Amino acid sequence: MNQAGDLLLVKSGGPAVFHEWVDGFAEASSGLEVREWDDPSVRDDNVTYVLVGQPVGDRISRFPKLKAIFSGGAGVDHLTREPTLPPHLPIIRMATHENAQTMGEYVCLAALGLLRDWRRLALAQERRTWDPFLGTRTARTTRVGVLGLGHIGLHALEMLRGLGFQVHGWSRSRKTIMDTTTYAGEGELQPFLAASDIAVGLLPHTPATSGLICQRTIDWMPHGAGLVNAGRGSLVNIPDLVAALDCGRLGGAVLDVFESEPLPADHPAWTHPRITVTSHVAGFATRRTRAAYVVEGMAALERGDSPPHLYLPDRGY
Ligand code: NAP
Repeated sequence: MNQAGDLLLVKSGGPAVFHEWVDGFAEASSGLEVREWDDPSVRDDNVTYVLVGQPVGDRISRFPKLKAIFSGGAGVDHLTREPTLPPHLPIIRMATHENAQTMGEYVCLAALGLLRDWRRLALAQERRTWDPFLGTRTARTTRVGVLGLGHIGLHALEMLRGLGFQVHGWSRSRKTIMDTTTYAGEGELQPFLAASDIAVGLLPHTPATSGLICQRTIDWMPHGAGLVNAGRGSLVNIPDLVAALDCGRLGGAVLDVFESEPLPADHPAWTHPRITVTSHVAGFATRRTRAAYVVEGMAALERGDSPPHLYLPDRGY
């Protein structure tokens, strides 16, 4: 695609990997000028697009010809929490097939890990303890509830189904998915969680999703249920989760995202025997694939079309 005359400024991954962005964009587009965020030769009034994967302060407000912002990831909270962000600019979320695939792989790994109590087995190895623990159920007798049926949630649900799990889902607006019970809105969260032996959080951070998994809602889940959270950390009230794990109300948790990242050294999740911690690594996509996605989004905007996965401020995601 020809994007002659446009200048894209990139803040994602840092200068050491910038050449990968240059290669990816060269493959996907002709004429698009791609420059690194801290390149001192870039004049603010030449910048027409930005690709931003981390907080950048107020700099975005200083580009008078900016047409749109591409988020380096699926979430946009690193952008929208900046008060100087110009409200009229379209923000496009990163939603490539690779993001959905890698997130689905992580969710499958986490669900199987909870099913076979992988955390217990890992701790046994650390202690050099022979622990002939066998699970009590299979994927076919385990109900997995996916919170969030968007780009990632729908793909993860199908991958879980492929492993044999009984799957169902919950979202804000009602979805129709073949052979699948779906639940919608806060009013149906209770029956959804009550039917989830494992609940998987794939929700964005919004006021409505913050603290949704807390003592009140954990009490709706089956005794000994598991929790996976790979959406945003604000979903889970950590003290309530730890209390539920400590008393056996919940059986285990796999957490990839946290309210404060990197996770502080004194956070209780690091050492909890029923919690597996990963460092916000559940989903990723190659720079080549993300560059092609950005170029397609630019082309849609230039045609006057609305690109898919546009952030809608009224909805909050
Ligand atoms: P998406 O396509 O926007 O889907 C979001 C889903 O959440 C939609 O189904 C939406 O419902 C639902 N939802 C939002 N607010 C809700 C509410 N209050 N109650 C019930 N459902 C609600 O987003 P996505 O691309 O699937 O990504 C989901 C999140 O995953 C991202 O926001 C990001 O934070 C996270 N993520 C994490 C990683 C990682 O490495 N850990 C990587 C990528 C993404 P509707 O369908 O009704 O709109």
